[in-house]
Amino acid sequence: MENKIGFIGLGNMGLPMAKNLIEAGYHLQVYNRTADKASALDQSKITVCKTPAEAAANVDFVVTMLPEDDILIEAVAGADGILKTLPKNALHISMSTISPDAAEALKKLHDEAGNHYLASPVFGRPEAAAAKKLWICVSGDAALKERAKPVLENLGQGVVDFGEGVGSANVVKITGNFMIMASMEMMAEAFTLAEKNGLDRTNVADFFGSTIFNSPIFNNYGKLIANKQYEPVGFKTKLGFKDARLAFALSQKSNAPMPLATLVHNRLLTAVAKGKGDTDWAEGVGGGVDDDAGI
Ligand code: NAD
Repeated sequence: MENKIGFIGLGNMGLPMAKNLIEAGYHLQVYNRTADKASALDQSKITVCKTPAEAAANVDFVVTMLPEDDILIEAVAGADGILKTLPKNALHISMSTISPDAAEALKKLHDEAGNHYLASPVFGRPEAAAAKKLWICVSGDAALKERAKPVLENLGQGVVDFGEGVGSANVVKITGNFMIMASMEMMAEAFTLAEKNGLDRTNVADFFGSTIFNSPIFNNYGKLIANKQYEPVGFKTKLGFKDARLAFALSQKSNAPMPLATLVHNRLLTAVAKGKGDTDWAEGVGGGVDDDAGI
């Protein structure tokens, strides 16, 4: 049981994360809605399960990397959910970007079932996940954070503690994704302005990325937006829009006006409305700015 982990959600992020846990020596009981995603994993190191409940049976840990609040809650508390089988005292390491309210609700469900919940959302795209370069934000009970460490250390370059509040790490994740989407909007507008004035937008992005805006977000997303290089899709526009909704809802609930959040929320909503939900969110933002400017 010690080296067995339930792993649920083999999408853009979940698949490389699962590969790293297998490489670290764990046997995974995997569940994905479309089972054939598991064919990319070493079959001798996994058991393919038909339900989240099957994946959570007889394990100390279950890791989830599903899209959003409702889907995760269904995978936990639904008819074939994790809570049907997760042993007493086992730990659910919850790595999706979800609302702090959902994290509270999930903790309550696990408490009632006699097992545990830890918020562990991540920063980093699928390439970072594959290279074990994620930044993992945790919050919750101190003993649970300690227990999760050996698992999390196989997934990222750092685990950062945001205290005891179960939803705190989710608040950090939402604020961070708001900063990324607002930065993308700003870069897209700036590079488009440069292009319309006859400059090579990639040169402009390189200049800023290597001097006064030298940071991973400006470099990584700056390059994608400057080059209009939107394939392969690492993070879908519809999930970026989900995060804009989370930021907007949290701002309303907290009585904290965020005019910029309204702007990027509408930018991503426009992209989804125009059928671009499955494109990369860099295209959802950058393509939208270009489109407005007629280029
Ligand atoms: P994805 O869409 O690539 O994968 C989602 C997974 O959930 C898939 O395996 C899919 O089969 C499964 N799924 C979807 N709907 C389902 C349903 N109704 N029932 C059961 N399973 C369902 O998403 P992703 O990019 O891997 O993101 C997963 C989570 O990680 C999200 O919360 C996202 O916001 C967050 N995140 C993503 C990135 C990124 O760069 N992609 C980075 C940090 C955090």
